Amino acid sequence: MGFSVDMLRGDIGVVDHRLSRRSLINEFKRGRVNRDSVCDAHPELIRAARNLGEPTDTKCEICDETNVVLLTYVFGHGLPKHGRLVTERSEIAKLQRTGHEYAAYVVEVCPSCRWHHLLRVLPVVGRGSRRAAN
Ligand SMILES: [Zn+2]
Repeated sequence: MGFSVDMLRGDIGVVDHRLSRRSLINEFKRGRVNRDSVCDAHPELIRAARNLGEPTDTKCEICDETNVVLLTYVFGHGLPKHGRLVTERSEIAKLQRTGHEYAAYVVEVCPSCRWHHLLRVLPVVGRGSRRAAN
């Protein structure tokens, strides 16, 4: 699994969802939201997380048992409405060569308790229009 979200970091237009994630976790810890309402990942998301998720060192803040994994879904031209799960760096490179713009949604998922949250949405743009080449 060669794909890493690192390759997308720093692009223009990055939207960070960590703040809303943090406030939801805080609400859970204060007992204002129950576990069922935050641990409701779709079975498909859980299956993908177990089989294809990118491991992290981040312990799930809801169950405090398992490390969360990351999944990256890409949306855009010619891709399915529900997005395409991207697990290989080469798939991103292939999309970049099309000249179309895509959006990569990086999701944090806990395979144990089914917690999930969008971490960030990153633009995937053609190589030619990238501001800084890596
Ligand atoms: Zn968990």
